[in-house]
Amino acid sequence: MADSLSITVFLQLNKKVLNNTPLTELNGVGPKTAELFLKIGISSQEELLRCYPRDYDVFEDTVTAGSVIVGKKNAVLGRVRQKPTVRRFGNNSITMISLSDPDGVLQVNWYHMPYLRNTLHVGKDYVFRGTVLEKNGRNILQHPEVYSPEEYTAMSRQMLPVYTLTEGLSSKTFRRVMKLALQNVDLVQETLPEMIRRQEDVCSVTEALSAIHFPDSHESLMRARKRLVFEEFFFFLLAVSYMRLKLNRAENMYPMPGSELPDALLSSLPYELTAAQKRVWKEISDDLNGPFLMHRLIQGDVGSGKTILAFLAMLRAFENGFQSALMAPTDVLATQHFETMCRLLEEQDIHNVCPVLLKGSMTAKQKRETGALIAEGKAHLVIGTHALIQDAVSYAELGLVITDEQHRFGVRQRGQLTEKGNSPHVLVMSATPIPRTLSMILYGDLDISVLDELPASRLPVKNCVVNTDYREAAYRFIEKEAGNGHQIYVVCPMIEPGEDSSCENVLEYSSILTERFGNRFPIAVLHGRMNTEEKQKVMEQFADGSIRILVSTTVIEVGIDVPNATVMMIENAERFGLAQLHQLRGRVGRGDAQSYCIFVQGNGKKEIEKRLEILDHSNDGFYIAEEDLKLRGPGDLLGVRQSGETQFRLADIYHDAELLNKADLAVQKLLEEDPELEQPEHQILYTMLEQQVNKPFETASKHFE
Ligand code: ADP
Ligand code: MG
Repeated sequence: MADSLSITVFLQLNKKVLNNTPLTELNGVGPKTAELFLKIGISSQEELLRCYPRDYDVFEDTVTAGSVIVGKKNAVLGRVRQKPTVRRFGNNSITMISLSDPDGVLQVNWYHMPYLRNTLHVGKDYVFRGTVLEKNGRNILQHPEVYSPEEYTAMSRQMLPVYTLTEGLSSKTFRRVMKLALQNVDLVQETLPEMIRRQEDVCSVTEALSAIHFPDSHESLMRARKRLVFEEFFFFLLAVSYMRLKLNRAENMYPMPGSELPDALLSSLPYELTAAQKRVWKEISDDLNGPFLMHRLIQGDVGSGKTILAFLAMLRAFENGFQSALMAPTDVLATQHFETMCRLLEEQDIHNVCPVLLKGSMTAKQKRETGALIAEGKAHLVIGTHALIQDAVSYAELGLVITDEQHRFGVRQRGQLTEKGNSPHVLVMSATPIPRTLSMILYGDLDISVLDELPASRLPVKNCVVNTDYREAAYRFIEKEAGNGHQIYVVCPMIEPGEDSSCENVLEYSSILTERFGNRFPIAVLHGRMNTEEKQKVMEQFADGSIRILVSTTVIEVGIDVPNATVMMIENAERFGLAQLHQLRGRVGRGDAQSYCIFVQGNGKKEIEKRLEILDHSNDGFYIAEEDLKLRGPGDLLGVRQSGETQFRLADIYHDAELLNKADLAVQKLLEEDPELEQPEHQILYTMLEQQVNKPFETASKHFE
């Protein structure tokens, strides 16, 4: 294939494929509503359409008051027999009715809705839909939605989309605006070539978008999903193919023969490398001094000790006269790597090596100064975030680039850092446990090393899967561990209270814990809506031990290393994919002390319990991913993403492995037939590719963070 097919070609193309019309152009969407959508990162109509539901609300068949299931959502058909009573407490009120039928009685409570007293009519039938709890031997239907039986019958044939919301933005509004945007769905361009669509039997993009939001049947939903997942894989793999072209077996222009510093560092470490680390370090060493440039992926479970290998390689580069760069996905992680590196150098009494840190949150002046050190070659080891690949940064003699937590970056970032130098060695590190067959596709451009061993000194994390009744015991346990000087993570899926009251949120949770422990243990919160400096500060304080309990969203997931943390409590564990839970759990069990992970399950579904038990029995990321895959049937993929943080919105590399293979074959075939994508019907692929490789790195769970 011709050289002209390099990524840069695509970057010069600047056609617009997206419908960037702002939401306010929709009739009935004002600036206030648009503002709310902006809070979750949606500004244009196409962005809205591409914000897929995280689940679907399927309206259950109705039941009678006596046949409800406790702990679950029930739609109860019943007659209002007397005028509702309203009890007031200060500003609050509870409105109550009682439903009865021959086989039982059900109390119904609403909060802050006294007007129901006038809107519910005595003698009429309604459907009340909500969760039933048991209190003092009585069944109570909590704050249900109210429908007329006709209304309910009409709805029970639909699946209503459930989106991740933010304060002030209700499901109702979200759905209404989505419906409006769907009226313009024809403006969304078809990007998959006709040929491929026919061959793979996938529907058009407009059909897919309509049906993914408002499916009229399970089949149409599956069809929509198939199309959108295929599309994600297809464009991803197309981009990977170009990366492969670019990175094609090139001559090693930066030979790095053995040197002293890495060995010196190794001999001074308080531990010995595991056999797996030694093996992979040898593979890296051989690459660095081999005939070809290194393009290697290190895949190793959380805690398998990838960082030290990166550092060894960087020191090797330094001693051979080359700069090296290490890119991490977050400021916090970059800072931690930088500090660890500085400490190691300090302990070695090495002063001729100059490490620098470059990250987005630095002032313009700091960035300029650091940039100058890098450009002049005075900075030898460059550690940072994607600030490392920004235009203003240029390197003097970049011989090695390393990306940590690779799966968090898009394909674009994979390439961009290498473009900074003149084809340097490339090492990427990832903790996502992917079966080898899949990683060969996803990382088709790389050699793969596997770190399949944890340091021997590690005690396996002790796990338990519990329901919310166990919280009290968990708090006592936390108290004990914190009292012994250890640190605790508590993870909630949401930041703030939302419409879905079954879901714990960081803000309320931390105030509960503060009330209970605040006078004894410093408690802090961490979530994606804090600015980078705030986050950074909290993480630093947690790392140095001055914060004892950290209540957080999944932002802590990535790479952070605080060996003194021994308890991880995860609320609404059912909301997360197993792989993601496993990653979270990897934040504890990093020191010598016994660590614990408490998975709190917010709803009592048996299937979920079964899934979580896999985690209970195993600490092996590969095994967990495979077992989860076996457990989940085809209809069962909505709502929870198995693969956690990846560059895909909808696709799940485990669940959709078959489509991934198909997309791979389709890409190969396409490039065989039209290697330069010259045919007119492939023009759009150019443009898409540009967007794919240009996409800012985003995280699947950005709405949760
Ligand atoms: P990850 O692979 O998840 O990035 P890290 O590189 O952060 O893991 O390592 C986790 C912890 O284990 C660090 O505190 C590190 O110093 C320590 N560590 C690394 N290798 C070993 C080893 N061979 N023996 C003991 N501890 C190790
Ligand atoms: Mg790491």
